[in-house]
Amino acid sequence: MLHIKTFEFNMLPVNTYVVWDETKEAVVIDCGCYYEAEKQEFIQFIQENGLSIVRLIDTHLHFDHIFGNPFMWHTFGIKAEAHKADLPWLDQVTERIRAFGIRECDTPVPLGGYLDEGDVIEFGHHSFTIFHVPGHSLGSLCFYCKEENVLFTGDALFRFSIGRTDLGGGGEEMLVGNIREKLLPLPDETKVYPGHGPVTTIGEEKKYNIYIR
Ligand SMILES: [Zn+2]
Ligand SMILES: [Zn+2]
Repeated sequence: MLHIKTFEFNMLPVNTYVVWDETKEAVVIDCGCYYEAEKQEFIQFIQENGLSIVRLIDTHLHFDHIFGNPFMWHTFGIKAEAHKADLPWLDQVTERIRAFGIRECDTPVPLGGYLDEGDVIEFGHHSFTIFHVPGHSLGSLCFYCKEENVLFTGDALFRFSIGRTDLGGGGEEMLVGNIREKLLPLPDETKVYPGHGPVTTIGEEKKYNIYIR
């Protein structure tokens, strides 16, 4: 049995997911906490549920998805893992947030490792396999748990929409092609947890998402 807790963190806001099973081993996907109250809420949730965080994995390295990474390192001793192709976003985070009108964020910490297509993230009795789905950013990843049929899509695929492709390093054709090739073949009942907004399913997206039909 997989448990999924969704937090909506920071001004954008981003979905931060905590995923765990009966072993209480947990994986965190895109820790976006920015404000002190969000960090406290996160810590309290982990403590109250007796969870032990084993990995922090990033769907991509846009600033809104990684605001909480320094906090994760300083509080839980866990460094984030992500695709190498998104490193420029981490290196330029200060410039990027200022261009967006945000004055400051916690000083970034280096990644703890790289992830790529076909890698497997194991926790408790479960695992995620990784799809590399570039287009929103060059290093965009999706995490799929086959046993439970759930998919975390970051900013590649949203409910009835897809991610922006004008931020550099991607493109609509690339994104749509990757979604069609790697995500749409998954079972229709696959539950999709995006980086922003509500949950959907592969079946609903095949039917109603005009960008990828
Ligand atoms: Zn993004
Ligand atoms: Zn985003």
